[in-house]
Amino acid sequence: MTEVTATETRQGIGVSPGSAYGPVVQVSPPVRPPADEPPAQDREAALTDVKAAFESVAVALEGKARHADDTAQQILKATALIARDKGLVKAAGKQLDAGRGRANAIANAVEEYCAQFEALGGYFAERVTDLRDVGSRAVAAVLGVPAPGVPDFTEPSVIVAEDLAPAETATLDRALVVGIVTQEGGRTSHTAILAAQMGIPAVVQLKGATGIPAGTFVALDGDSGEVTINPDPSIVEEQKQRRDKRAAALAGTSGPGTTRDGHHVALLANIGGVKDAEEAGALDLEGVGLFRTEFVFLSADKAPTVEEQTEIYRKVMAPFGDRRVVVRTLDAGADKPLAFADLGPEENPALGRRGLRLSAERPELLDAQLEALSIAAKVTGADVRVMAPMVATVEEAAWFARRVRENGLPKGGVMIEVPAAALRSAHVLAEVEFGSIGTNDLAQYTMAADRMQGELSDLLDPWQPAVLDVVAAACEGAASTGRPMGVCGESAGDPLLALVLTGLGVSSLSMAPSKVPVVRLALSLHSLPECQGIAAAARAAATAREALEAVRELARDELTDLL
Ligand code: PEP
Ligand code: MG
Repeated sequence: MTEVTATETRQGIGVSPGSAYGPVVQVSPPVRPPADEPPAQDREAALTDVKAAFESVAVALEGKARHADDTAQQILKATALIARDKGLVKAAGKQLDAGRGRANAIANAVEEYCAQFEALGGYFAERVTDLRDVGSRAVAAVLGVPAPGVPDFTEPSVIVAEDLAPAETATLDRALVVGIVTQEGGRTSHTAILAAQMGIPAVVQLKGATGIPAGTFVALDGDSGEVTINPDPSIVEEQKQRRDKRAAALAGTSGPGTTRDGHHVALLANIGGVKDAEEAGALDLEGVGLFRTEFVFLSADKAPTVEEQTEIYRKVMAPFGDRRVVVRTLDAGADKPLAFADLGPEENPALGRRGLRLSAERPELLDAQLEALSIAAKVTGADVRVMAPMVATVEEAAWFARRVRENGLPKGGVMIEVPAAALRSAHVLAEVEFGSIGTNDLAQYTMAADRMQGELSDLLDPWQPAVLDVVAAACEGAASTGRPMGVCGESAGDPLLALVLTGLGVSSLSMAPSKVPVVRLALSLHSLPECQGIAAAARAAATAREALEAVRELARDELTDLL
């Protein structure tokens, strides 16, 4: 651990806007069993302790779930179920018989399970992280040491971790967590997406973050990615002034997204469940551009019934009145495994049967979802539009559009997140009513770089000129058909990229609601021809860094001064 006492500024990647200042709370690393633990003397007493340890983990997770929102609740309850698995206690019992101590019996039993899960692949393999988390918590409980993960704290603080599991991020108390810093993680990892969704300023990929001692004060800037350790009071004051200046500038903007010369670009919210919908529905934005439906079912063991789904969709749509709600059908597979939609192990899940490919193999899942959406749309009178994830070909788009129509839904669209669909967007969009570019996956597939790998964040930089070219191709194709093309990946919420995307011709930008005000301001300060010039300059650049610099140069100071 490197002690830091002097003021020091480090550069990470800003993924959730805003600035924060507070003491560091370090997320405790996993607890390992002692190598020299003696064998348990009294087998029955040891087994009782092991059982109690797993049970205390389940109870603690369920307790957290009670205070969490929908997505987090699902994840936490699913993890609590793992802790209650009787097989784990049985396996630990065998380890005790083999002469292990309590903590090692738990750890070995969990590792045995992990090996089995990994061999099963697919959904089960994705659960290995949760299983290890349960194991580490149970080891801590049986040893009587603090549980790994986010410790209890009462003062507004900055959470610092090597990385945060989506479940950990989703369960953070928004009132107490003023900022998040991680050493790993990527721009489009689900931690980054959830932090922005929760409106907590966040920086990822900060070198040496876990070495910052707990209690050290840090100032972070979720836009620039700068983190200052032991900041001088003048830095904190400067940051506060910037925050106030930004708040004042943003307070002056409202209403639909429009460029300075009156060109409309709809500003929409990305949401993941009922709670998000209730919050976003109360805000000044034009509706929902991406409802990630799979987030609602992350921990469901059985496919949700039409009735269950209808109830959830009704609650999601209601807060938006007659505003649009764009719903994405289940994007299961790869980084978002669903137990009831698992097709078994795959060598390379991100390139496998995920998204619409999975729907094609399990059409009954898609039909149930479309039926529920259709009923909820009728009941609420919402302007519901449904789009498919991971579309690559014209045939897939046509197949989806037919099913949407057959279920009585008025508008079907496709996500453009596979380069094949982007390059052929004119033909793909001819089959549907609209397109929405998912820049997170589009960057992943264009650059052949796994979006979950923080180390590859330079390749995944949305300013990569090749990614901008593929986005431009998708927009040109859409323009030739007259069909609207929006963006709902993380790029949409970056004010400078929003100018580029507007210049490329997108008709809507969908993002975490916390990002809407600054994007609205960015648009209002630039005319459409200026945005077109900005887009051309970005595409003319040779590298991602040069593209960003070129746009910074051209954007108005009133905007760049706030970033
Ligand atoms: C995307 O890929 O850009 C997108 C919006 O979908 P997700 O992040 O859920 O994969
Ligand atoms: Mg995607």
